[in-house]
Parts: sequence; C-alpha cells; structure tokens
Amino acid sequence: MRIETKCIQSGYSPENGEPRVLPIYQSTTWKYSSTEHMGRLFDLEENGYFYTRLANPTNDAVAAKIADLEGGVGAMLTSSGQAACFYSIFNICEAGDHFVCSSSVYGGTFNLFGVTMKKLGIDVTFVDPDSDEETLNAAFKENTKAMFGETIANPALVVLDIERWAKIAHAHKVPLIIDNTFATPVNCRPFEWGADIVVHSTTKYMDGHATSVGGAVVDSGNFDWVASGRFPGLTTPDESYHGITYTEKFGKAAYLTKLTAQVMRDLGSIPSPHNSFLLNIGLETLPLRMERHCSNAQKIAEYLNGNDKIEWVKYCGLPGDKYYDLAQKYLPDGSCGVISFGVKGGRAAAVRFMDSLKLAAIVTHVADARTSVLHPASHTHRQLNDEELAAAGVTPDLIRLSVGIENVDDIIEDIEQALENV
Ligand SMILES: *Cc1c(COP(=O)(O)O)cnc(C)c1O
Repeated sequence: MRIETKCIQSGYSPENGEPRVLPIYQSTTWKYSSTEHMGRLFDLEENGYFYTRLANPTNDAVAAKIADLEGGVGAMLTSSGQAACFYSIFNICEAGDHFVCSSSVYGGTFNLFGVTMKKLGIDVTFVDPDSDEETLNAAFKENTKAMFGETIANPALVVLDIERWAKIAHAHKVPLIIDNTFATPVNCRPFEWGADIVVHSTTKYMDGHATSVGGAVVDSGNFDWVASGRFPGLTTPDESYHGITYTEKFGKAAYLTKLTAQVMRDLGSIPSPHNSFLLNIGLETLPLRMERHCSNAQKIAEYLNGNDKIEWVKYCGLPGDKYYDLAQKYLPDGSCGVISFGVKGGRAAAVRFMDSLKLAAIVTHVADARTSVLHPASHTHRQLNDEELAAAGVTPDLIRLSVGIENVDDIIEDIEQALENV
C-alpha cells in the first residue's frame, strides 16, 4: 500500500460484524478465567492484554499504523513527545553512558538531554549538525551509545543529512535516532536513509488539530545490537524480566520489546486510549493536510522573501536557502508548514508584528491546522542563554510561523496588515 492508503487502512482491520472505526478501549485491565492463563501473559509466553500501561488495543492499533507509515517493525506510543525522546535514549543508555546529539533540536529536547539526563548520569555532547566528518567523529567516546538528530529541526529549520549521520553512527557501532516530527513519514522516512530508530511528537502534524499531546518511538529492526557489542541491556539476561535476553527472544523487535516490557513498565508514560483514538483520526488525513501545509508555506515564504520589511527568511523550500539541496534530497514532496523569519527592527519589531496579527494566533503550539506564531527567544527557548540560543540556531528576532491549512490569501493578508504596524 502507498502512504495515503496506509494512513487510512493500517493498524486496524475489523472482522465480520466488528465496528468499522477503531474502538476506544477505555479499560485499564482485562479479565481472565484462570490464574495460569494470566501467568503466561506475564511471562510473555502468550500474546494478550492485561494492563493498559503495557498494552491496549486502541494504542496498539495506532502504534501499528505509525510503524507501517515509517516502515518499521513496530512502534510504541507515549503520552508525549518528550517521553518518546527520553525513552528512545534511556532504553539503551544508563548512568556512565554518553550519546551525541545535534545542537539544532527542539528546546525541550535540548534541556532534557543537556540538563535532566545529566542528573541521571547520562552525558551528551551537542554537535553542529553541519560539522565535517572529523568534528563529528571526534564527539564519540568509548561509552557512546547513540546519535540523535531531527529531520527538520524545530525551530531552526536545519535539515539533517540523515544518510551521512547514519554512516557516522554506524562506523561507531551505535544507532542513529531521528526525531521525524516536522517532516512526518508522509514527507520523509528516515529508515530509508539508514536511521535505526524514529521518534515523534505526535502532538504536531500527526494529531494535526491540537487536541492531544502524544509521542511515538518506532524501531526499524535494522540495528544489529549483538554485532555492535555495546548493548548488554539488550544482549544479556534482564533479571527484572524473568531473565529474558531481548535479542535472543525477540530478534528484530528486541529494542521495542525492552522499551515496552522494561522502560514503559517502570516509567509509565502511556497515552490515554481516547487520545490515541483522536490521533488516529488525525493520521487519516495527514497526507492531505501536509500537502496543504507545504504549499501554503511555500507561497508565504516566497511572499516574505520578497518583502522589504523582512530581514531574512528561512524555509528549505526556497532556492537559495542553506538547506535547499538537502531538502530536495530528503524532502522532495515538501518539508513542513513551519517558516522562520526576522522582521527588520529586531526583537522589538518581532513583538510588535506578532501582537498585530489577527488570524494567526500566538500559541506555544506548532504544526496544527490553524496558523500560529511564536517568538522562541521569549517562549520555548527562554531557558537558554544567548550562547545556547545561537548554538540552537535561534536568534533574538526569530519568529516561528506555523502555517495552517486556511486559504493562503487570508494568511498573507493578515501578515500584510501586521507588517504595516511595524
Ligand atoms: C514538540 C516537540 C517535541 C516534544 O513533544 P511534546 O509532545 O510537546 O512532548 C519533541 N521534538 C520535536 C521536534 C517537537 O517539535
């Protein structure tokens, strides 16, 4: 099936007489008639539901759809994108370990990795994603366990050279984890370029309507944990789970099974089945919405680019953008609906422009059906100092415009009237 069909059909196939639409299994638990049957479920000897933190039919159907969209062996839903990013690393890193991360990542991820995970004894080195090979190689250490980056960085809009990063990660015997939130699998499938694990904040385009915070971790099944020799958590018995060795028992699904059976079991950031139901409805129209987000954003980027009140525009669909060539390679059908730009007059002009908008709303959120706008230096990235802001590719005048799926002329007229007030 092609991706538009998968968005509609994957994950749930009702049998004769069953509901056409994926039901919401809003139940924490399942009933069994024998002690022994339940015991087999706990031993992972038999498939079956018993507790929603570990598995739930609504969550699983949506996870299966996302896995299919990315071309992975399986996926696990989480209650937020933050949880997905944390779990993707924590599944293979423990105190004393280290990983390498692009410095152009979402502000929340930057803080999670650089501050909170350090408190757990997991160290990170942030690297400029465009660094040459020598610089990237120099970031790796004996205890490095993963490499992490975003397909299109939020909000810096840096396009990652995934294929190059995958080669470097693999040369160091570690997996490449890609946050594919902004591109979505409609526009880029990182596994096709060598990435091993994909994470999502489903809160953004996948949900698409700003109703539910959520996340997902998808496993390609391609990374050879045994050959790497760096991942005893996957290749030696887990005493907390009946002495199971994940790679022996689950093969290509080793990472995903450990993620569910150990990390989710213990940390518990599971989404509500009701939220997964809403996410599934969002996924059904994802290809249509991405097409419109991208065509609207392209027109608006071109409009801003030609406007003399605008200092600069970043959108990888603009010829001349630093990432235009990488976008042509990785995102040939479109990138995302997010544009960043600076209004002439710096921080003060940015604030005046934003306060003058009528249709575009000031919200923290990004990547939903409604056009919205944000000033990262005063909002999402306000925890970062100027040096960290620069490293994350965020200047004080940067405005992040998340172009919605309204009529593009209405959005342009709103921008035009707001610019008149600057
Ligand atoms: C929003 C976002 C996150 C965090 O996701 P939440 O769902 O808000 O927890 C992670 N990565 C990227 C790229 C994001 O845009």
